[in-house]
Amino acid sequence: MNVQGHYFPNASSNYQLCVAKISGSHVEINHGNDEPVRYAINELNLSSAIAGLADELSFDDGGRFIPLDVDFRWAFNAKNNHSLERLEKNKWAIIAAIVVTPLFMWLMLYKVVPTIAVYSVDTLPHSVVEQMGEQSFAVIKKLALDPTELPDEQQARVQRHFKTMLDELALEKSVYRLSFYKSQSFGANAFALPHGRIVVTDELANLLADKPNALKAVLLHEIGHVVHQHSVRITAQSAASTIVLAVIFGDLEGIAEVALGTGASFAQQGFSRDMEREADSYALTQLENLGYSSNDFADAIEALQSAHTTENEHLKKVNNLLEYLSSHPSSQERIDNARK
Ligand SMILES: [Zn+2]
Repeated sequence: MNVQGHYFPNASSNYQLCVAKISGSHVEINHGNDEPVRYAINELNLSSAIAGLADELSFDDGGRFIPLDVDFRWAFNAKNNHSLERLEKNKWAIIAAIVVTPLFMWLMLYKVVPTIAVYSVDTLPHSVVEQMGEQSFAVIKKLALDPTELPDEQQARVQRHFKTMLDELALEKSVYRLSFYKSQSFGANAFALPHGRIVVTDELANLLADKPNALKAVLLHEIGHVVHQHSVRITAQSAASTIVLAVIFGDLEGIAEVALGTGASFAQQGFSRDMEREADSYALTQLENLGYSSNDFADAIEALQSAHTTENEHLKKVNNLLEYLSSHPSSQERIDNARK
């Protein structure tokens, strides 16, 4: 069988019109004037057949032969490639690919990766979490926290309540640490860092100064975030998703950014509603266990809500990085849930 086509010698864009002939186990390229060159069929490389493109042969010496007829298919190339080509021509296969590819991406990014991330969180050494937490803490301190101005005895009282609760809940005191900071940006607020450091602002301590049990309820909510590893989970998820995206799109520099940016990412995203509910229900359960009332929790949220409505104008100026903290003073739903 003779096939007309162009022959491209190794590393050259000069081509010659010539004829390829299949004879037994060889392909002969006939340049016309020279002796025909013979290549063993089992040493040939074939491009995979793509509809509309010629079925190109490449040889071990670097030369290539491209048939003139784009629809021509080498008989010895029958096995795998033709099924691929049939797929490419099949409109249902194309539609399926259009639907399945984004679905696959979505599944990877929103289901598979977060699940893997959640499991991998348990295998993270505590020293890594500790470092991550202290890094974020340093950033937040720089941006939004000032030294506390609370009187020593007020601090000592809250610390005592906090330590008693830790004892009663059998939680490790070297992990759960309470610090006070004055914060214009946050106003009355509290937040927990991944490694167990909990920050209460002067404004919050003062707001709840005559409601010590309400302050305990807030502390329990924050402890709940740490117990359920919410910020570690968020960080792991966003890091894993970024890595997957970087691999898919070949942006390997992105991975370096992940390694450098993990600290800030949890602060940017904030806790999900489910996480807030989980922390709320931890607080409510433990309040009962410790002999307090879930009304203490409702009191705290109510106080925070009114405090934040009056300082709302100011809160709007808080930049995005710290926005998640403003998600804490929250809705009637949480108050109703606690009063129930
Ligand atoms: Zn929370």
